[in-house]
Amino acid sequence: MRHDFVHESRPCRVVFAVGARSRLREEVDRLGLHRLIVVCTPGQAALATELTSPLGERVAELHPHAAMHVPAAVAAKAVAQSREIAADGCLAIGGGSAIGLAKAVAKATGLPIVALPTTYAGSEMTPVWGLTDAGRKTTGRDPRVLPATVVYDPQLTVTLPSMLSVTSGMNALAHAAEALYAPDGSPITALIAAESARAIAGALPRVVADPRDLEARSDALYGAWLAGSALGATTMSLHHKLCHILGGTFGLPHAATHTAVLPHVLAVNLPAAPRARVALETALDTGDPATRLFHLARDLGAEMSLKRLGMPEDGLATVIDQALAAPYANPAPITEAGLRHLLGNALTGAAPT
Ligand code: NAD
Repeated sequence: MRHDFVHESRPCRVVFAVGARSRLREEVDRLGLHRLIVVCTPGQAALATELTSPLGERVAELHPHAAMHVPAAVAAKAVAQSREIAADGCLAIGGGSAIGLAKAVAKATGLPIVALPTTYAGSEMTPVWGLTDAGRKTTGRDPRVLPATVVYDPQLTVTLPSMLSVTSGMNALAHAAEALYAPDGSPITALIAAESARAIAGALPRVVADPRDLEARSDALYGAWLAGSALGATTMSLHHKLCHILGGTFGLPHAATHTAVLPHVLAVNLPAAPRARVALETALDTGDPATRLFHLARDLGAEMSLKRLGMPEDGLATVIDQALAAPYANPAPITEAGLRHLLGNALTGAAPT
């Protein structure tokens, strides 16, 4: 085989273990941080208080105002607050929303981030930031928003409700799948993505059967870490583009939208991406990854209909127009008829064809 790739490794320290949260103080000291602003969603404020109590005076402020898709006003308030208290670091506890807010702070102030992820979204492993203003989400890349240290503790995920565990896991699987056919993928990202898909698909049924099963939770979070790494190192294609449009236009829930869309995009893309297809077939132990992932998510109780998630039936044209407006790399050609077919199936929750 003739290899032809560029691979860039980014520095990020990862501490992964059941119980790793007890090493948070050691990790904060390792970075020499003394005045942290701690960001989380309102629902995780009590958890953040508990996790940061060993940090004592190193916590300058708990800021429990993170919200989905990082609203600009929320970001501006957190940035102003970080400056006001002269924070020297930002500790994010939670899922993509909390980590997204920490990234907004880091982008504006240059503060280093320490992250304790509690979902499978994977944002903590990427240099990608997002900001939503007046209903429009802007994203970009900036190496300063990549956390300095990520502490993964599977015990923090046992409270993640089953349904969110499944959809968040499918969100991670989407990163892995699209990394496998990314225009800027490398042999390393391909290995990472395939291992991620294997770990997550194997873990999700065990997580749902027993949400407190720490081995299943470890496997799922391990897969999510790998998926985030693959996401951070590559450029995503049609699937992420469609989810971005659907979330931004109709306010559909992030992880649930990824779940409903992924099988349909794979049904279109994998025939045009033979290496990715073989890698996913092997990782998922199936001859048809698109159908396998559809049934995996549906059988574990995920909502597979975009309509039932809140997408209006007459919204198809808007999504198609936006998806066709700006060109981007994708293994299969993107046509209006193809998008109508794919989104039509996702709208009703039909199996991929
Ligand atoms: P989220 O962070 O909004 O979390 C969803 C809900 O679950 C929140 O109410 C949260 O408080 C709660 N929660 C989180 N962990 C929990 C736990 N262990 N137990 C109980 N409740 C818990 O959702 P998400 O799916 O993690 O993140 C979605 C956001 O992340 C979106 O805005 C998306 O665009 C962004 N994202 C960004 C990147 C990136 O690279 N920049 C990657 C993936 C996702």
